[in-house]
Amino acid sequence: MAGGEKVDYVFKVVLIGDSAVGKSQILARFARNEFSIDSKATIGVEFQTRTLVIDHKSVKAQIWDTAGQERYRAVTSAYYRGALGALLVYDITKRQSFDHIPRWLEELRGHADKNIVIMLVGNKNDLEGERAVSTEDAKEFTEKENLFFLETSALQATNVENAFQTVLTEIFKIHS
Ligand code: GDP
Ligand code: MG
Repeated sequence: MAGGEKVDYVFKVVLIGDSAVGKSQILARFARNEFSIDSKATIGVEFQTRTLVIDHKSVKAQIWDTAGQERYRAVTSAYYRGALGALLVYDITKRQSFDHIPRWLEELRGHADKNIVIMLVGNKNDLEGERAVSTEDAKEFTEKENLFFLETSALQATNVENAFQTVLTEIFKIHS
């Protein structure tokens, strides 16, 4: 969209999950349609924006990425403040990153808006041969916790757009 055009809504969405699950690459894919194999650990709190049209309204998504603070309880409350959506990311090839999801969810629910829209994202599903978390296990968890769920590949650009679109459309339904 050209500069100076009106924005009807600004929605803050946060990315959380263990280090190296692919959060920064998911954001790079969504915001700039880029991917880098040797992405450096993120330094400094950062967000990127992309403006979409939902139901004829201009919606600016402000997507926040953690600043390498992925240790338990190291993400500050400022990061979560005002967030209306979250992508809770694990790596389908790293069981531990999935086992930590309940902690992230607890931390998120403790800090964020009570109506926050949450999507569980199993990233790196291009690495099927190294899979350590079954789709069924993840689905079962999301049904129990009432979350949206998708498997993505930032590398192959699979479902990244879909994940953000779903979250932003749900936020739009709640807040417009
Ligand atoms: P973050 O710490 O969660 O931000 O993770 P990064 O985005 O920095 O990604 C960590 C590593 O995983 C990098 O080497 C990425 O290139 C790689 N990576 C990220 N997404 C994917 C993906 O979808 N598939 C594959 N095969 N590698 C990925
Ligand atoms: Mg990162």
